[in-house]
Amino acid sequence: MINRFFLFLFILIFVSTAHAEYRTNIKSINTSAFSVPILLYHRFGFSVTDSMTITIDTFESHLKYLKSNGYKIIPLRQLVDFYIKKNKVPESHSVVIVVDDAHKSVFSHMLPVVKKYNIPVTLFVYPSAISNASYAMTWEQLRELKKTGLFDIQSHTYWHPNFNKEKKKMSPSDYNKFIDMQMKKSKDKLEKELGIYVDMLAWPFGIYNNELEAKAKQHGYIAAFTIERRHAKPYDNPMSLPRYLLNNSIKGKTFERLINNE
Ligand SMILES: [Zn+2]
Repeated sequence: MINRFFLFLFILIFVSTAHAEYRTNIKSINTSAFSVPILLYHRFGFSVTDSMTITIDTFESHLKYLKSNGYKIIPLRQLVDFYIKKNKVPESHSVVIVVDDAHKSVFSHMLPVVKKYNIPVTLFVYPSAISNASYAMTWEQLRELKKTGLFDIQSHTYWHPNFNKEKKKMSPSDYNKFIDMQMKKSKDKLEKELGIYVDMLAWPFGIYNNELEAKAKQHGYIAAFTIERRHAKPYDNPMSLPRYLLNNSIKGKTFERLINNE
């Protein structure tokens, strides 16, 4: 009888220890989990002139909210390092700021605010527009941004094509060459003009698929970004990380809900 009692006690202790270990494992998985919103801007102005323009007041209200609620704006590179090097989990309350297209207002309107708040920004550029299109920045202005040490400049392909449309217009071999050109020429031009290293890519119009991902990897890109509206999570594919495309109506409570993933 006594032996049976000890056997029962032994089993009880064994089961509860195993369960405790299981609980600890669950806990360690939870602490390494994270959820980071990547905020995507395009143009800035003192008033709203189109759907892609965010006023300086709205932009500053975003930064003030983040600052006074314990959020930390981290460089996009720091988030990408987690996926590539698997060694640094972003702190909780991390947020990333990125800008696509290199419009002039990034230089004229956004830059002073970025300096004032001393925040890291990643800018995705399609080089064919630079020092060429009237709405775009010049190479000289991009060099100025780089000099601040706050801007990481990366690729948005060479001329921002809609890959779905181009595929329909071309033969398979022409389309193949076209993708190569968009990926390679952009990286080469940015690296040559700015003396930087380019290995991140923002998908034009958020369009991506397995074929494009494979090509991007082949051309040395280690991370790429869509416009899917959700937070980046640990198990995401680094070649299709989500970003929130913002407009000027996303402020106040709407902005808070977006940041807090509600
Ligand atoms: Zn774009």
